[in-house]
Amino acid sequence: MRQVDTLIIGGGIAGLSAAARLARHGETVVLEAESQPGYHASGRSVTFCHFGLGDGLVKALTAVSRETFAAPISEGETPVAHRHPALHIARADQAAEVDALEKVHRALSPDYHRLSGKEAAKIVPLRTGGEAATAFALLDPNGFKLDPHAMLQRHIAALREAGGTLVTDARATAIRRDGGRWVVDTMDESYATTRLINAAGAWADQVAAMAGVAPIGIEPRRRTVISFNGPGDTDVSAWPFTKTIGEGFYFLPEGTDRLLASPQDETVSEPCDASPEEIDIATIAWRIEEATTMTVPRIAHRWAGLRSFAPDERPVVGYDPDAPGFFWLAGQGGFGLQTSPALSLAAEALAMELEWPENLKRGGIGMQDLEPKRLRERRSA
Ligand SMILES: Cc1cc2nc3c(=O)[nH]c(=O)nc-3n(C[C@H](O)[C@H](O)[C@H](O)COP(=O)(O)OP(=O)(O)OC[C@H]3O[C@@H](n4cnc5c(N)ncnc54)[C@H](O)[C@@H]3O)c2cc1C
Repeated sequence: MRQVDTLIIGGGIAGLSAAARLARHGETVVLEAESQPGYHASGRSVTFCHFGLGDGLVKALTAVSRETFAAPISEGETPVAHRHPALHIARADQAAEVDALEKVHRALSPDYHRLSGKEAAKIVPLRTGGEAATAFALLDPNGFKLDPHAMLQRHIAALREAGGTLVTDARATAIRRDGGRWVVDTMDESYATTRLINAAGAWADQVAAMAGVAPIGIEPRRRTVISFNGPGDTDVSAWPFTKTIGEGFYFLPEGTDRLLASPQDETVSEPCDASPEEIDIATIAWRIEEATTMTVPRIAHRWAGLRSFAPDERPVVGYDPDAPGFFWLAGQGGFGLQTSPALSLAAEALAMELEWPENLKRGGIGMQDLEPKRLRERRSA
């Protein structure tokens, strides 16, 4: 039996970004069920950092994290974020939503500005006539395209540098309470710890159930992505991440001639190795062709991943009020990469009972906004 200070279940962005910080406080081990880190949600994301999703708390976590992405890096370090514009587009009947969003977004990023549909269509080939036409847009020049691989590798390097370990092919198969410690079994080894971090993404409730801890109601929802060639010889690399306000689609460049696109599907799923459904692929192709002058003649790649949500669609970070030493780091929805700098900082402060970080305070983010207690109270109310 190996005794460690902190044991983390899940080698995605949540588990690894927290591990990089927690390893500085004591021996830390991350268990990842798959043969490589980031195999599930974290490796299937389109990893764009923008303000077009989530409530005020998620936007605040994004704003705090964006400071990290914008910070200069040291010489020789691989950049994890590249500045890239974001364009939020809307139809004529969504004028009120655009007004409301403009206010919220400008408070977070003063460079946000409004464009007419015709102005937006000069940047990307949007239709400006017909029912699906773009009538308004909000452009944020300060979005970021993130590199998930570089992010994961940076955290793994920091974990190792602090003496911690990532163990792959190490599925936690049984968890029990034993004399004030959590004991976790994998095929090859058993671990004992007083601090068990549940960063199992779509499997977070299943991991809790294995430990005899009441589930929180984490709901995995499938999201589909396709890639296809952009129009003709056009270099699409500078096109903004373009997303409809509300339901619809998004697309963004992948290199100079390819685009990635999603119908923003949210089909509830069991935790699994998600794969795309034909209906979602057909929907995205149809929506792109309806709202832009592009055609989607051939789909080069397709994939799907699970985004996991708590009942209030806010992340869950903190000790379970009814299970000593059992720490939740779950419910990162569709914003787990772009909020990981802020969420890992919050996880460190809550797990180690440190003073609440200044930049989270400044962002108006309170620990009670994140702690699982709020969901237990909601259930019993
Ligand atoms: C298509 C798509 C697009 C997205 N786009 C964006 C975006 O643009 N920006 C953004 O910020 N976010 C985006 N997201 C969301 C983001 O990917 C997630 O919020 C984030 O990856 C969640 O990270 P995680 O570590 O919680 O989960 P995961 O990456 O799924 O990691 C959880 C890990 O736990 C492991 N695990 C589970 N059970 C066990 C066990 N018993 N023992 C050991 N290990 C276990 C799993 O194998 C898995 O690797 C997108 C997601 C998808 C699917």
